[in-house]
Amino acid sequence: MSAWVEIGERCWVRRYEEWDLNIGLVVGSDGALLVDTRATTEQAEELREHIREVTDEPVRWVVNTHAHFDHVVGNSVFTDATVYLHENAATEEDLSGTTFSVAKVIDLGDRRVELVHLGNAHTSGDAVVVVPDVDVYFLGDLVEESAPPSYGEDSFPLEWADTLEMVVGMMATAAKVVPGHGAVVDIEFVRNQTNDLGTVANTISGLHHDGTSLDDALKHTEDWPWPVEKLQDAIKRGYEALGTPRRPTLPLLGPG
Ligand SMILES: [Zn+2]
Repeated sequence: MSAWVEIGERCWVRRYEEWDLNIGLVVGSDGALLVDTRATTEQAEELREHIREVTDEPVRWVVNTHAHFDHVVGNSVFTDATVYLHENAATEEDLSGTTFSVAKVIDLGDRRVELVHLGNAHTSGDAVVVVPDVDVYFLGDLVEESAPPSYGEDSFPLEWADTLEMVVGMMATAAKVVPGHGAVVDIEFVRNQTNDLGTVANTISGLHHDGTSLDDALKHTEDWPWPVEKLQDAIKRGYEALGTPRRPTLPLLGPG
């Protein structure tokens, strides 16, 4: 059974069995802010009841870490809240809400929450949610703890590590990091996952550079930090970005 865990003062995480999804809750003097809303209306109604276990403050703000259904379908249940999401998340999945481009500050009264977008990664519209007074970072699916990072058809495998490295750059050493799915982690975990994401990017670029066909790249089993079956979309998306590989050149007689 899931329960709220207070990982910073008036800042909670609840890890749900369905999709192993993390929901964040930050309470200020003017109301409560919710990070993501679960995958169905029914689950969101349950979430609304669960919120009452820790606060009577109304949910006035909802932030979506990105547009995937397991994080946003419950939005409709929180009718009194203003929904915030990145502009690309709004356009790609046709979601309504208040959008931002690079950064946005939400004033909760006696504390603030910051939303930051640093580039393409898990999607084109990932938002990092920072609670600066307690060093808590909700990273959505930029990081996963209980499974390999999810490379989908809308992911950016060649850019993801660079984006995440910038996120790590703004984190405090004592940061408590909430992944989209799985247990709360620390900055060291995020650094390691950034390295692994970088290895995926480099391996894709290397195969492409060597003239490996897409079909062969999809079957390549070495050099990956995760099983290649989990990286099929990563390889396809990477190849799409890099263009058709040039045919390998034979080592013909060079000068001298
Ligand atoms: Zn996702």
